[in-house]
Amino acid sequence: MSKVRVSKRKVCCHGDENDEGSGHPLIYLDMGEEEEIACPYCEKTFVHDCTVEAVGEVSVRQSGLRNNR
Ligand SMILES: [Zn+2]
Repeated sequence: MSKVRVSKRKVCCHGDENDEGSGHPLIYLDMGEEEEIACPYCEKTFVHDCTVEAVGEVSVRQSGLRNNR
């Protein structure tokens, strides 16, 4: 299980872009009052960290482009 630091409490996940076998439909996760949330599909844990830029969103967009090829 991997942890990803994100700058926002709302994140989207479509699986691990480094492992095609763990891919899943794109879903949005909202931490609400929590500081972290685990994706119910791939169990990747998103940890809120306001010192990080929106790395998670960037990586999702990049892998999305790759999937469209
Ligand atoms: Zn996921």
